[in-house]
Amino acid sequence: MSDCIFCRIIRGEIPCSKVYEDDEILAFRDIHPQAAVHALIIPKKHVATLADASPEDAEVLGRMLVLAPRIAKELGAGEGFRSIINTGKHGGQEVYHLHMHILGGQQMPAMIK
Ligand code: IMP
Repeated sequence: MSDCIFCRIIRGEIPCSKVYEDDEILAFRDIHPQAAVHALIIPKKHVATLADASPEDAEVLGRMLVLAPRIAKELGAGEGFRSIINTGKHGGQEVYHLHMHILGGQQMPAMIK
């Protein structure tokens, strides 16, 4: 997707504060942090939302989950973190390139009791 902002970040057309990269995955700090630590982990393949993921995306999604605690710890959220994937309109998704938020570095407020 040529005009997708996260695809443009992947291509290096828009700068980011990169915290991790491999062939399939990029992670960078959120531009408007909602916590002391706030990073986004994204697949390099353009998948608009979690609802658009197909079985062939399962491996990279699994790798994103496994990477999350490592990235959180490296950024100073070793005491724990929250991982969020907003999906679609009712999920509050603003950028339509699948991404996982990693939030931590502080006590996160309870969301679900
Ligand atoms: P969503 O609401 O789950 O789609 O979250 C999108 C996130 O992307 C928001 O937290 C934004 O602050 C973040 N964001 C948007 N543009 C950029 C950027 O250029 N660099 C880093 N983060 C961004």
